[in-house]
Amino acid sequence: MHDMFEVRMYADEGVWPRRAVVTGGAGFLGSHVCEALLDGGSEVLCLDNFVTGTPVNLAPLANRARFRSIQCDITGYFHVPGPVDLVLHMACPASPVDYLKMPIETLEVGAIGTQHALDLAREKGARFLLASTSEVYGDPQVHPQPEDYWGHVNPVGPRAVYDEAKRYAEALTTAYRNSYGIDTTIVRIFNTYGPRMRPHDGRAVPTFIRQALAGEPLTVAGDGLQTRSVCYVDDLVDGVLALARSGHPGPMNIGNPDELTVLQIAEDVIAATGSRSTIRHVERPVDDPQVRRPDTSLAEQVLGWQPSVSWAEGLRSTVSWFSQLELRRA
Ligand code: NAD
Repeated sequence: MHDMFEVRMYADEGVWPRRAVVTGGAGFLGSHVCEALLDGGSEVLCLDNFVTGTPVNLAPLANRARFRSIQCDITGYFHVPGPVDLVLHMACPASPVDYLKMPIETLEVGAIGTQHALDLAREKGARFLLASTSEVYGDPQVHPQPEDYWGHVNPVGPRAVYDEAKRYAEALTTAYRNSYGIDTTIVRIFNTYGPRMRPHDGRAVPTFIRQALAGEPLTVAGDGLQTRSVCYVDDLVDGVLALARSGHPGPMNIGNPDELTVLQIAEDVIAATGSRSTIRHVERPVDDPQVRRPDTSLAEQVLGWQPSVSWAEGLRSTVSWFSQLELRRA
């Protein structure tokens, strides 16, 4: 599928963007992306309205000379002075709890916010990366999911506000590439976990860790035999930045292909926290995907990227971060 695209190098291997704009940079993934860009020597401007992110995520970056953060809603007017060579568009409520609470805002940031971020890249002659999602595959009928699978999404189901916003964002990014010659790429991110997730954001790993640390039952949806493939945040950030710098147009899956049942995730969390919690089965949400696993051969082939952090290792460091969060709160 990708042979038809000419792969253009964005920068020499090892050279980082001089100045990057990260929309949604105060969120879970965005803050790690900002940090990695700064570590590589970039100047970073974060644009975020803190609707699901928080300045607390940016606290470790606040004193770094090359970092700036502006509180703004990217669906409204904003202006970025000076040159920019990379726009990473990550702004969007990403957990079901958030996007079900903010359906219109989610559609707006996927549509209007994406257009504004693309306009910024166009104005500056910058490369543009859209943070898309494995949710564009919906409840997939092809397993594992390669990039040329078109998906199985219910456009009027409750999750549609997120899934279709991202599908529209992918279409808009492609149209800007084809109509205006913008250097764009699309990353389809699969479930990612790690430090800075919010304990109440509703996603499986932080929910289970919070419940286990509190000694509460872990709420597993349905029989728990549905699968997820979870990627540690450091691996994800490496993949995203490698794609951003590669010149490849995407879409490209980035995620960990190790597949776990939700029940297994819950049991592993109980073991890793040493908790005495039990498991309580609760009702499955509408349109909850039955299986989820990325085919990552394209990322391996083009970027030489593979995840390197095991589930056991990643879970340990996430549990340790959540335990300290509890202590800081106590
Ligand atoms: P998050 O909710 O922690 O971060 C999203 C950030 O976007 C927040 O800081 C929020 O305040 C900001 N934002 C939302 N609407 C905005 C607006 N109108 N203007 C400015 N800022 C706005 O979510 P995350 O997990 O860090 O996800 C980041 C991106 O990656 C999202 O685009 C998401 O769809 C994508 N993604 C994440 C995962 C995952 O497993 N974490 C999986 C697939 C895709």
